[in-house]
Amino acid sequence: MRIVALAGGIGGARFLRGLKDVVAPGDEITVIGNTGDDIHLFGLKVCPDLDTVMYTLGGGIHEEQGWGRAGESFAVKAELAAYGVGPSWFGLGDKDFATHIVRTQMLAAGYPLSAVTEALCHRWQPGVRLLPMSDDRVETHVRITDEQGSRAVHFQEYWVRLHAELPAEAIVPVGADTAKPGPGVLEAIAAADVILFPPSNPVVSIGTILAVPGIRAAVAAAPAPVVGLSPIIGGAPVRGMADKVLAAVGVEATAAAVALHYGPELLDGWLVDPADADAVDRVTAGGIACRAVPLLMTDPAATAAMARAALELAEQVRG
Ligand code: GDP
Ligand code: CA
Repeated sequence: MRIVALAGGIGGARFLRGLKDVVAPGDEITVIGNTGDDIHLFGLKVCPDLDTVMYTLGGGIHEEQGWGRAGESFAVKAELAAYGVGPSWFGLGDKDFATHIVRTQMLAAGYPLSAVTEALCHRWQPGVRLLPMSDDRVETHVRITDEQGSRAVHFQEYWVRLHAELPAEAIVPVGADTAKPGPGVLEAIAAADVILFPPSNPVVSIGTILAVPGIRAAVAAAPAPVVGLSPIIGGAPVRGMADKVLAAVGVEATAAAVALHYGPELLDGWLVDPADADAVDRVTAGGIACRAVPLLMTDPAATAAMARAALELAEQVRG
């Protein structure tokens, strides 16, 4: 079976670990990763979502934090701060720096991001094929109004430095309109037996991937069933501030509203948590098969059960 998943960072990566636990030997998982969060820092190209997937599936992730490397030290960060060189709000550890140095060096030598990601994965052996959504630069910006007036900031500045405390007035994936899907992306979607939307952020993770011209249409046209899992439980994101970016696109932070935002053109099935059992009728009425199953990724067994439920729903809606 060929499974394709669109993934952001933490929510996507944790779900993928559960998915790997339930697939049969010989099944292939292709992950289309969000690169709209990418940022250039200290002259280095940082790809937070690709790295979160790679480290999580490769056994190098800082488990409690959900991002960055386990057993990190921060000597480089301290030295940069001693020179007065920022930003200080983005936490890059020493081990993580090495990843970004290798990536930046390879990009400077002319390799596309997809080839660089493959090379990095050679070390981490994530057990999935990790494809950047695009080799072209896409950068999500957020329009805010603060004491400097109305302006756009990089998504990382909005999320990490400002903790999404100001309302997001607009989310703009800068460069997405002219970006091309990365090598293998459209082919993987077309050839998939199942397509999954993990409980990743619907706007700045999955929404950004779908904003690359051709990807949304490919998912909509794919013969495979498409099943998603809600990142929203009980009217709030399980983790993070997804409600802030949902508000920016006029979508309420509920499991049902997120499903209907994707719509029946994309989704064949949707899983909500039992806390949102009342969403099942609304989603079903919208033309999307819906089931309520526990959706908290509290441990590997619970996460594997979510993946199994998603694959079962895909079988039910097939054809
Ligand atoms: P990011 O790029 O690191 O923000 O990660 P993603 O976009 O892949 O996932 C973020 C989303 O994961 C957030 O909106 C969370 O609500 C969701 N999430 C995190 N943990 C869980 C969980 O245990 N269950 C569910 N259903 N969603 C979760
Ligand atoms: Ca992200």
